[in-house]
Amino acid sequence: MNQLNLRANLLTIGGIACLLSSGCTPSQAVDSGESTSGASSDGTPRVERVLTQEERDNMTPDGVLQMLKDGNQRFVSGTLTSRDHSKQVREATFGQFPKAVVLSCLDSRIPVEDVFDRGIGDIFVARVAGNFQNTDILGSMEFGCKVAGAKLILVLGHEHCGAIKGAIDHVKLGNITPMLKNIEPAVKFFADYEGEKTGENDEFVHMVAEQNVRMTIAGIRENSPILAEMESNGDLKIVGGIYNMATGTVALIEG
Ligand SMILES: [Zn+2]
Repeated sequence: MNQLNLRANLLTIGGIACLLSSGCTPSQAVDSGESTSGASSDGTPRVERVLTQEERDNMTPDGVLQMLKDGNQRFVSGTLTSRDHSKQVREATFGQFPKAVVLSCLDSRIPVEDVFDRGIGDIFVARVAGNFQNTDILGSMEFGCKVAGAKLILVLGHEHCGAIKGAIDHVKLGNITPMLKNIEPAVKFFADYEGEKTGENDEFVHMVAEQNVRMTIAGIRENSPILAEMESNGDLKIVGGIYNMATGTVALIEG
């Protein structure tokens, strides 16, 4: 199946499934975006519907980035949007129109959707320890952006990352050994660093984590002509960030 067919299939399955069921209007077939209605008991907006395809398509890459920044502000300030996830699960059966792909580390302390105050159908989340890119991650990103229409890729590293520390300390264990090879270039980048080059040195771990994000972004552009072209056409933005464990803040870093 080529890309266009795959996308057409993705976008029409909802309609076909909907037509086969009773009580479903055509507009509901593509209704998996986001809007708010009503309010939770504490007064914060309650989301009972996700953005439609049209609403998502009208957003720009910069608009999607701003949406994630605003969501992170709400996460940090403790004003997360209240969502009716069980209702949204049923609505999202007929399709998805996410706006961004977030590549995060595996770390259990980073609840990615919450970090950006996003709910069902909002973002694709790819996770691998050390948030590096490889063929499988790139294929997932190409699906998320080229086929499914996401307009932003955010590579999200974080403070106190065990994978970064493991790469710095040359940890050897089973499949972790070859996995950490993906992070080694970011460690070697600081070969001339004169401080303590161990996982105990928070400053060095931070430097490597940032560099790993930068190199992951460079690798995405280099190894995915599809995503690089989307970015040069203005259809996609690729950015990096570091999640602060203590505050919940995501600080964007220049690629
Ligand atoms: Zn990590």
